[in-house]
Amino acid sequence: MGIYSLLKKDFTKEKNAIELFGCKNNFCNSLVIGVFHGDEPIGKDILERYLNFGSNKNLLIVPCLNPDGMVLNTRQNANKVDLNRNFSTKNWVKTDIGEDYYGGERPESEIETRFIMSIIEEYAPKRIVTIHTPYKIVNYDGDEKAKTFAQEIAKVLNYEIESDIGYPTPGSFGTYYGKERNIPVITIELDEKETLTGVYPKFEQILNDLL
Ligand SMILES: [Zn+2]
Repeated sequence: MGIYSLLKKDFTKEKNAIELFGCKNNFCNSLVIGVFHGDEPIGKDILERYLNFGSNKNLLIVPCLNPDGMVLNTRQNANKVDLNRNFSTKNWVKTDIGEDYYGGERPESEIETRFIMSIIEEYAPKRIVTIHTPYKIVNYDGDEKAKTFAQEIAKVLNYEIESDIGYPTPGSFGTYYGKERNIPVITIELDEKETLTGVYPKFEQILNDLL
């Protein structure tokens, strides 16, 4: 685990651990989050490899935000909530349970959502990267700084960038922090064809050199 230690831990509905790793007593600028969606497990593989074999870069890392969904192989968590629709944005809407983008009973209803919010409140990261699949695009929420940051990341991955994913995302993490709180949020949507071995060196470069 190198310079990293466990900084924070909570347990989901199904008693799986959600963990934050980082460097103790050190100022840190960037937060990286894997597995917002349970059926997109590659983020955990990338970030765990980085924690075990990466560098001495001082980052805040949550390898797997949605362990219940990962066990179930679902986008949503064990309450059928899409965590990326559970943030308290101005445009949050209640939808029916069972829908793909169900945002929960109310904003911030989920343990996983509150876990991430408490990290951001405590550590105040200056930029945030989340790892998703499968769209082969680097999406950003925020101002010109976010755009520049997205361009740098996209260049390493050889992907295009996009400021708008093309459909409304009420309650999304990017809207809440990027658009409404002006913390640059970069959503890396990896190509579904990417493998851990193929993409990991690029992530090592992004995490070491760009964050
Ligand atoms: Zn996703």
